[in-house]
Amino acid sequence: MTTRIVDSAAEWKAIRKSPELISKKIGFVPTMGALHKGHASLIERSVAENDYTVISIFVNPTQFDNPEDLQKYPRTFEKDMDLSKKLNVDFIFYPWYNDLYSDNYSYKVSENNISKTLCGTHRPGHFDGVLTVVMKLLNIISPTRAYFGEKDYQQYKLIAKMCKAFFMDVEIIPCKIVRDDDGLALSSRNILLSNEERIVAQNFPQLLQSKKNPAEIIKELEQLGFKVDYVEDIEGRRFSAVHIGKVRLIDNVEI
Ligand code: AMP
Repeated sequence: MTTRIVDSAAEWKAIRKSPELISKKIGFVPTMGALHKGHASLIERSVAENDYTVISIFVNPTQFDNPEDLQKYPRTFEKDMDLSKKLNVDFIFYPWYNDLYSDNYSYKVSENNISKTLCGTHRPGHFDGVLTVVMKLLNIISPTRAYFGEKDYQQYKLIAKMCKAFFMDVEIIPCKIVRDDDGLALSSRNILLSNEERIVAQNFPQLLQSKKNPAEIIKELEQLGFKVDYVEDIEGRRFSAVHIGKVRLIDNVEI
């Protein structure tokens, strides 16, 4: 089994229409790379449920509201390639910015309800960037199913509702959060934490899962040195985003 790299939308579209793939079930896992076991769980599910699995690796500049965050975002393509081979990924879509954004981002997808809450309040323009790139990727890849992690629960909801609103012919599959042994949700950004910060970070999921209320949790997080963007309970789920040093962490748990 080989893992083929496709770096242009036109090349992928030709492959998708080829006799090999035209009538096959295609599973798609969009990522920004720096792959870890969280991504692997989505990929494994796609491989099990479809004839072919495509992942994309693209650090999407339009969803970053902070230039330093974009510049520091981990990029580990060789390692990602090795893991993709091990997981039997068939294709890695690895596009250039100019190919995806030939319009230079003059067209965008905006949402006016859910995207204005939680992370949307603290990251202006973030979800416009996410929805726009996911719409482009789904239109290019034309998958049967696309897999999204519940770690980014607000993002998953926005994407599922976008696909419904625009009659997009794809099934959006939510996947459970994968956590480290101490409970911290796996994230590409975790490798940016210092050893000390990584130890403090384990308090974040533990406090979210506690019986305390959001106000009490915010107070304790701040005492531990976190800068808190929000802790909010909505419809049986507790959502939170915090900063530890220069790294932003998000998480959510069922309550
Ligand atoms: P990213 O590369 O961070 O954009 O993530 C790509 C996909 O993997 C998104 O659908 C994420 O929600 C999902 N994902 C990232 N981390 C995890 C995790 N710890 N558990 C489950 N899914 C995850």
